[in-house]
Amino acid sequence: MGAILVQNTAWTNATRALDNLKVHGALSVEEIESLPDADLSDLIRPSGHYNQKTLKLKSFCSAIRRDSNGDIAQYLSQPAKKMRQALLDVWGIGEETADTIMLYAAKLPRFIVDTYTIRTLQRIGITPLQTTKQDLQTAIMKVLPHDPSYFAEAHALMIQHGKNTCRKTPNCKVCIMNSDCLSANTDSGIQSLRTVSDRVKTDYWG
Ligand code: SF4
Repeated sequence: MGAILVQNTAWTNATRALDNLKVHGALSVEEIESLPDADLSDLIRPSGHYNQKTLKLKSFCSAIRRDSNGDIAQYLSQPAKKMRQALLDVWGIGEETADTIMLYAAKLPRFIVDTYTIRTLQRIGITPLQTTKQDLQTAIMKVLPHDPSYFAEAHALMIQHGKNTCRKTPNCKVCIMNSDCLSANTDSGIQSLRTVSDRVKTDYWG
């Protein structure tokens, strides 16, 4: 539920919506399904986009009902490939949300590629500027240990770094990576970053 509620908002807002669901005993598939849309929207209002998110939660619960008779544990024990496709087939669940559910709920090793990760890795210069999320995920999963707790920690650290240091306007002076970062060491802006980034593409991406 949290993976859907956090879309386009901060985790603190998603938590407030989750707390409301908890207080009203509405955290199971049956309870979400039985709540009228208007009531569910009211409960998840703190997460923003609440009308859309109501439909997303309902469609996710319908999928769990259809695929696993409403049993979340059974749904989350599907083989990884099958589960990812099943998640992507649900209206309102994209790649990042699917990977978040697989990593945090199903405890499967998935590296989550979010906006913070892309921004930081592009600035450092190990990611080509034109890469897709899928290519980036594949490249990273080739070199990191396939351990769910490792990927969860990596995800949390990338978010923390993106929020605190490598922000829209990065605070390179205090960044522990500033001596190795292309962006921090490129005076002439994005054009030369693109050129250098394309060059490192060969080194890192083959
Ligand atoms: S040095 Fe600056 S641009 Fe590079 S990763 Fe750190 S904060 Fe981001």
